Amino acid sequence: MLRLRIPNAIFIEMVDHARSNAPIEACGILAGRGRTVERFYPMTNTNASSDHFLMDPAEQFAVVKDMRAAGLEMLAVYHSHPQTPARPSREDMRLALTPGVLYVILSLQEPARPVLMGYAIENGRADEVLVECTDGSTVQRIAITAADPGGRTS
Ligand SMILES: [Zn+2]
Repeated sequence: MLRLRIPNAIFIEMVDHARSNAPIEACGILAGRGRTVERFYPMTNTNASSDHFLMDPAEQFAVVKDMRAAGLEMLAVYHSHPQTPARPSREDMRLALTPGVLYVILSLQEPARPVLMGYAIENGRADEVLVECTDGSTVQRIAITAADPGGRTS
């Protein structure tokens, strides 16, 4: 199974971003090296929809430039599901066209207990990726995150 490691601080930023965008889907890009995320780029959902997202092309361009300058690769595209489970929708499957990029979905279906799942989507097939939260030596699966990630409320 493929793995993706996300620092706790970035996971908390993603949850904050998703919560502040709800009921609109939030989206963004996770960049890093190998299988470890180092940077989170929150993006604008130009669809402003609760069940679709579309990244702003100008923002995307700026992110690609920044990633290149920092020597980072695009590891995953992230978006939130404000009302539904962290599984790819039919539309997500249809639009997952970037080879080698993982798809990370953050579900706020249970508002106090955000769930983050990762997928490798290719040829109409979604394979689950093991997403791990890293915090120094601590590694935990994000899908079993406590009600209040990082001890913060928002
Ligand atoms: Zn989706």
